[in-house]
Amino acid sequence: MAHNYPPKICLKCKKKYQPLDGRQKYCGSVQKKRGCSYEMRKQRSIESAQKSYRLLKLTNPEKWRARFEKIKEWRIKNSEKYKAQRKRQIERMKQKRQENPEKYREEDKRKYEHRRGVLKWKRLKLRFKILSRDYFTCQYCGKKTPSVELEIDHIYPNSKGGKSVIENYITTCRECNIGKGDVILNEFKL
Ligand SMILES: [Zn+2]
Ligand SMILES: [Zn+2]
Repeated sequence: MAHNYPPKICLKCKKKYQPLDGRQKYCGSVQKKRGCSYEMRKQRSIESAQKSYRLLKLTNPEKWRARFEKIKEWRIKNSEKYKAQRKRQIERMKQKRQENPEKYREEDKRKYEHRRGVLKWKRLKLRFKILSRDYFTCQYCGKKTPSVELEIDHIYPNSKGGKSVIENYITTCRECNIGKGDVILNEFKL
């Protein structure tokens, strides 16, 4: 049930606001990313991150060095100079494409085909891995390849938030797959 607390005055900016919590002292909302309490929370999280970073330097210099390099790289990539450079690069590329569309159409097609090939190869590799893990047998009814057509199915349905990881895949025959549909196994009541 939602409680209606009386309006309060923020201790920091002295503005009137509607508190969501009886203990609230400052205005603001974390969800909407504004107000004094949000700013203070943000500042506090920055400070604690800095503190842990300094501590890491003392306790684990190797890890700290790796993080340092990463931050450096990130700063370069986010700098105005780098962004402007990248923008110019993209402009130049666009211009080249406009000048010589035939050539780039061919190249794009080739790249696209290649990418598709790689994806297909990855998919088939994963499929074979799952099939061999399950001994090329339907895990529900136990039938084997020549008599039935084997497929790969999600144990926990994709449409209900099941992840696309190998642990969530299972070998089934076509009939079991159709029969199961997108039902979660525990929902079956015998
Ligand atoms: Zn305030
Ligand atoms: Zn089956």
